[in-house]
Amino acid sequence: MHTLILATANVHKVKEIKQLLTDSSIEIQTASQAGVEDILREDGNTFEDNALQKAREIHKATGKPALADDSGLEVFFLNHRPGVLSARYAGDNATDEENNHKLLKELGPLSFRRRTAKFRCVMAFVAGGIEEIVEGECRGIILEQPRGQNGFGYDPLFKPDGYDKTFGEMEADEKQKISHRARALQKMKPLLEGYFAGVEN
Ligand code: IMP
Repeated sequence: MHTLILATANVHKVKEIKQLLTDSSIEIQTASQAGVEDILREDGNTFEDNALQKAREIHKATGKPALADDSGLEVFFLNHRPGVLSARYAGDNATDEENNHKLLKELGPLSFRRRTAKFRCVMAFVAGGIEEIVEGECRGIILEQPRGQNGFGYDPLFKPDGYDKTFGEMEADEKQKISHRARALQKMKPLLEGYFAGVEN
């Protein structure tokens, strides 16, 4: 097995990424399992900046191949906000409920046609002499009320195009087929496998 250090402390993301890599020879370790705490800054202006910065920091601190993702929700009516501020939309330590509440308030009674949004995920892989960046997105609309208890973040408000359920109503494996993170990882997977195929165990 090859070890890949994941630059995130978000348990939901770790679970999703582990599930997506179960059929590969890559074993995921979180940054804290690799002995690195508290260096995951997210002060860039773009998902790309943040993902790359996190992967570089973890690679530098552990000396091992590192994978980071930065993701968030872009709502067209809000000029792509909350974007990189998705986790902190309603304030620095905001809960998911507070963020969702703020989003609903900002959109008010706007018609469905104008409630379009997309989740974006940028993933960066950094290993000795290598930096790779890929992106995945999932388009949908923001409902007027939350539906479902699954997932995290804005999942209960987000209904992907072509589905009747929100991400919050979907089982994990259903979301995994179409999510922004899954799509980014599908692009990243061959790059990871290619890299690990060329290195010693
Ligand atoms: P990050 O940890 O900086 O990437 O912050 C991502 C934030 O965007 C999360 O805290 C959520 O608010 C939101 N987000 C990202 N991916 C998802 C998802 O799959 N479902 C719901 N919310 C998400």
